[in-house]
Amino acid sequence: MNEELAALQETFQRRGFQVEICENIAQAAKVVHEMIDKVTPAPTIGFGNSMTVKSAGLQESLAQVAKDTYIHALVGTAESDKKALTADFYLTSANAVSMDGHIVNIDGNGNRTAATCFGPKQVIYLIGKNKITQTLDEAMQRAKKAAVLNAKRYNKKTPCAVTGKCENCLSPDCVCSVTTIHRKKPLGVQMTLIFIDEEAGL
Ligand code: SF4
Repeated sequence: MNEELAALQETFQRRGFQVEICENIAQAAKVVHEMIDKVTPAPTIGFGNSMTVKSAGLQESLAQVAKDTYIHALVGTAESDKKALTADFYLTSANAVSMDGHIVNIDGNGNRTAATCFGPKQVIYLIGKNKITQTLDEAMQRAKKAAVLNAKRYNKKTPCAVTGKCENCLSPDCVCSVTTIHRKKPLGVQMTLIFIDEEAGL
């Protein structure tokens, strides 16, 4: 087993998270289905806007077993995002996770940061090894780099989309409204981290 992922598993288990380690995205998708497929009655499932979750094909495959799915819309505070906040499961990735036990996410809308703190019964993170940093400080830096890439990806009218680095903007299109740091599992929610031993997402 990848020693770094094994160390992460121990660190986050001590912080109240359930942790799985997978060799690749396909195996991670299988683990997610093992968690969800047999749940009765069929559960509702919310999704953030994770490239990792999308690349696992989970939005499509889980729709076959879910009572309903709520998928993030890119513009505004959509009804599906509100429903996702009270779903049985919520699937997302993280912007960064540190070996010292922190998960960092930066959102423009705040739907993912909200859903990963309170609301859904179970949150499942799929996290590629490229998201791993040593410290919380490095995780914050990595999350900010991901924000710059996201601003470019969605053609946001932000200075970083032009310069390629964070300019600490307050523009209407800013994708950095809310930052969350999880240092332990929040009370009242089950949370599973699936670490993937390959690169996935930004
Ligand atoms: S420039 Fe604005 S949108 Fe871009 S990363 Fe910095 S704060 Fe976020």
